[in-house]
Amino acid sequence: MQKGNIGVTTENIFPVIKKFLYSDHEIFLREIVSNAVDATQKLKTLAAKGEFNGELGDLTVHVSLGEGTITISDRGIGMTEEEIDKYINQIAFSGATDFLDKYKDDANAIIGHFGLGFYSSFMVSKKVEIITKSWKEGSKAVKWSCDGSPEFTLEEADKSERGTDIVLYVDDDCKEFLEKNKIQELLNKYCKFLAIPVAFGKKTEWKDGKQVETAEDNVINNTTPIWTKKPSELEDKDYINFYHELYPMADDPLFWIHLNVDYPFNLTGVLYFPKIKSNFDLQKNKIQLYCNQVYVTDSVEGIVPEFLTLLHGVIDSPDIPLNVSRSYLQSDANVKKISSYISKKVSDRLSSIFKNNRTEFEEKWDDIKIFIHYGMLSEDAFYDKASKFALFKDTEGKFFTYEDYATLVKGNQTDKNGDVVYLYSNNKDDQYSYIEAAKNKGYSVLLMDGQLDVALISMLERKLEKTHFTRVDGDVVDKLIVKDDNANNNLDFAKSSILSSIFKSQMPKIDKTEFNIEAQGMGENATPVMITQSEYMRRMKEMANIQQGMAFYGEMPTMYNIVLNSDHALIKGILSDSEANTSAAISPIEAEITSLNDKRKSLEKAKVGKKDEEIPQADKDALADVTKKLDDERKKKEEVYANYAKGNQIVHQLIDLALLQNGMLKGEALNNFVKRSVELIK
Ligand code: ADP
Repeated sequence: MQKGNIGVTTENIFPVIKKFLYSDHEIFLREIVSNAVDATQKLKTLAAKGEFNGELGDLTVHVSLGEGTITISDRGIGMTEEEIDKYINQIAFSGATDFLDKYKDDANAIIGHFGLGFYSSFMVSKKVEIITKSWKEGSKAVKWSCDGSPEFTLEEADKSERGTDIVLYVDDDCKEFLEKNKIQELLNKYCKFLAIPVAFGKKTEWKDGKQVETAEDNVINNTTPIWTKKPSELEDKDYINFYHELYPMADDPLFWIHLNVDYPFNLTGVLYFPKIKSNFDLQKNKIQLYCNQVYVTDSVEGIVPEFLTLLHGVIDSPDIPLNVSRSYLQSDANVKKISSYISKKVSDRLSSIFKNNRTEFEEKWDDIKIFIHYGMLSEDAFYDKASKFALFKDTEGKFFTYEDYATLVKGNQTDKNGDVVYLYSNNKDDQYSYIEAAKNKGYSVLLMDGQLDVALISMLERKLEKTHFTRVDGDVVDKLIVKDDNANNNLDFAKSSILSSIFKSQMPKIDKTEFNIEAQGMGENATPVMITQSEYMRRMKEMANIQQGMAFYGEMPTMYNIVLNSDHALIKGILSDSEANTSAAISPIEAEITSLNDKRKSLEKAKVGKKDEEIPQADKDALADVTKKLDDERKKKEEVYANYAKGNQIVHQLIDLALLQNGMLKGEALNNFVKRSVELIK
């Protein structure tokens, strides 16, 4: 028996392995199984080249559990004593401490950096044995054994078959890895698509009411996943089946893209557009990254463009430097190329579906728009491509490209400044009456109810020239698109202010909400009272909700406009009725206001051209007195109208109807409305 020390330059690598690689213990299995697969593939290559002429036989790699052990056996090339010495005993391990410090949370990086694949077995083992016999003629089988100290032993072994058995004597604190389910889970995660069959135990079947083992190996992997095949060999159902192999619980995907490049880098894979069921249950980290069919990770940020991390599928590339830190990865030139290649492939694919199968594209638009919008928002290059196939959908469900839509609305929806106004609704039901009013005027209304539409609108306003968006309830229909300045409201100031006093006094008190009343002729058939909220105001509020530093707007009360239709018979009726009912009380107040106003004017006149100290104190006092009295009289006037309004059922009914139409009538107010309505029908 030979004894020796493993050639490492640091004191002892084992404590290091255990200490630093705590985060990813489980990858030991991937390392050992993929070594077995590599050794097997090498043998196949030798056979193909005619260098190995023996019987290949069954090349399945076997993983099995014993008393406290895990054994991984292959029938690959095996190792001679010299090879063990070269590949296992002499491990380069210089400059280790610095490196380990830097990457202590990244087992992949450490293993890759030092070629420590095999040694990762010591993360979970107190002793490891290699029993191996080389394919080379006349080789003797050898057994290497090491108990986690730098000391190993190497002796002759009793093994007749070519290949390697790796026996892991699992540590007491890693007992979980001796459970069948755990190993099954790890094989499924890391080894599912390895290129050589890997068997774990035997297949089972139901017999006489219980599960029994059959004679057949339980092969856990698919050695030829579809990304290794040519697109021309595959049918739709192959892609769909493979999708379910990856994600058994998911709905069918919407589209897929087969990636296949060999220059300037190697990359294959299939990306799927998943169907997203509920609002924003977008799951990231669903794309799996492989290196020659060995699973590496499912966090692909930095490799795949950010917006495409919402997609599902697999990417396989031997050219992605897997064993480096994330930040390095993101600055790697090759990786950047990969990222823009993927982005371009995705836009090309979408563009070709749009061109060749517009109906299918439209049918799936609602499901795919989130990806497209996200891409347009996050990448200019993608925007440039996608703006040719991205769609607008109107409230009737019709689709338009950006270009077609601009042509459609240009004539009728250009305002006095030459800006094209795109009207939109974010809720067809809530804004029904506004949409109807706009449509009656011949306007088109877009449906913008996606999760990203608020951001999309801001971006499109920057990108599209002389175009802005206004929500359909942003103003009364005549003012949504202002075509000339003298849109009159055909009511004189006095009459508008009476209406304003009447309605304002009866508006309910809603927390953090203010109402501004205005009268406006909208035609006798239009609704008598409507509520609008200015586009500007609403956007500020929306932004405050998502952006820090804008909390100021969030604190501000929400302002609504109550627009009274002065053409409507009910509003006209309220105006004449109120004038008749209040004139007795109002006349003396008006007379007093007029005389107070005269007094104030003459006092103001006397001040003109004088410095403050030149004005007699008596005059100053008189002015203050008049101003206060005027204020009091105005308050009196308001009170008269408020008193009148209080007893006017129609005023209350109209206010409530407008609130109701906007979903703002709730609780007690809603109850009162119902009661009052019943009274009125009786
Ligand atoms: P890497 O696989 O990155 O080279 P490892 O530490 O995993 O590093 O393995 C070191 C070497 O040991 C391999 O390159 C290979 O030559 C040899 N080796 C490991 N496992 C086996 C095996 N099952 N059969 C044959 N050779 C093996």
